[in-house]
Amino acid sequence: MLRDFKLRQSVETTHFELVFSLDDGRESAFHFAYNEAGQVFRTSLSPLELVSYKQCLSGVVDGFTVGRGTLGTYVHSCVADGSGVCGCGQLVVIDSARTNTCKGCGRQFSGSGQLLTERRS
Ligand SMILES: [Zn+2]
Repeated sequence: MLRDFKLRQSVETTHFELVFSLDDGRESAFHFAYNEAGQVFRTSLSPLELVSYKQCLSGVVDGFTVGRGTLGTYVHSCVADGSGVCGCGQLVVIDSARTNTCKGCGRQFSGSGQLLTERRS
């Protein structure tokens, strides 16, 4: 068994975007990240993005009409690697549900941190 074992786990992150659609016949749109309070992260915008954001708020970008911004919520999920410390002292990354090999000694561990095979000789 690995010491200080941490199981692989599903991680969900949520982010919010303010989307302005451009009436240019090409379904173009501008996306700006915002926080849960509905505020765009102005300080994280590049100078060019800030110009685009201000143009979107004005309702016209490069001569094309921009619709009102719509708020969207996007949830992304992924599986974060687990880890544990092998008997040899090496940190073992648990990135598989089946077999995870210690790079220090070659022992193999299951996805739940159980020893599967002793070190290779
Ligand atoms: Zn090891």
